[in-house]
Amino acid sequence: MPELPEVETVRRGLSPHLDGNRIEKIEIRRPDLRFPFPPNIAEELTGQVIDEVDRRGKYLLFRMENNSILLNSLGMSGRWTLTGEKVSFTPGTFAHGAVIGTGDGPHDHFVMDFQNGLRATYTDARRFGYIHLIKSGISEDEDRFLRVLGPEPLGPNFDADILAQNLRNRSSSIKNTLLDQGVVVGLGNIYVNEVLNRSGVSPRRVSSSLVKKNGKPTPRLELIVDQIREVLSEAIDAGGSTLQDFRGVSGDDDLGWFPVNFRVYGREGESCLKPECSGFVRRIVQSNRSTFYCPTCQR
Ligand SMILES: [Zn+2]
Repeated sequence: MPELPEVETVRRGLSPHLDGNRIEKIEIRRPDLRFPFPPNIAEELTGQVIDEVDRRGKYLLFRMENNSILLNSLGMSGRWTLTGEKVSFTPGTFAHGAVIGTGDGPHDHFVMDFQNGLRATYTDARRFGYIHLIKSGISEDEDRFLRVLGPEPLGPNFDADILAQNLRNRSSSIKNTLLDQGVVVGLGNIYVNEVLNRSGVSPRRVSSSLVKKNGKPTPRLELIVDQIREVLSEAIDAGGSTLQDFRGVSGDDDLGWFPVNFRVYGREGESCLKPECSGFVRRIVQSNRSTFYCPTCQR
């Protein structure tokens, strides 16, 4: 499932081509994805200019000049492809084995044609993704998808003090807490595993134990915040490198996840990569998801 760095990479790929571009035509090829398409979305958005392709958590936000917003979740396998005279590529090719959207494929469910001849196709073979419309005049704080979101981990509203406030009364494990999009957005299973390994914190640790009695963060919680920023930034940089050569055009390459060197994820039974640690990576299940960690150096 795409996490924040993957969605940010898609955004960076789309934005230079779609910002300022006028939507001439929208075609919807089926009634629903994970949820039904909003009624009249094609009528509402035809003729609109996209001000900016933005991102909030794992959502892409296509902000229109009339202040309405097309919100898109990529789900498991959603992807956007741009085709036109001068461009043909799928930014952030992370969905394995997916077919490149031409606008005519069996999984090309949503197609936007632009005034300058560009076509943006949303392809989603498994249809866990969705498209939602926030109408002009509705604030983001009122929207059911956006109002529940916590702060952006790379933005100014997230730091160790804020995280500590959120954790002080939580008895859930730190791993499950960091996956909660109301605490901080955009962190999925893979990156949380990496963050906790790099921070030397056990994924089973009770969240509130990382907060001091006076409500301030412990040094370990400060380390977690630093590592969240570092891991996500590394992944975004790695994703950026996949944008430069427009790979994905041919449709048969399989880049998989961004080439971040995962230290624990998927390495059950292998040696811990932390210098001077002689431990081995172990896999446990928390809330039905795999957790990989080193019991020797993560406490
Ligand atoms: Zn270790």
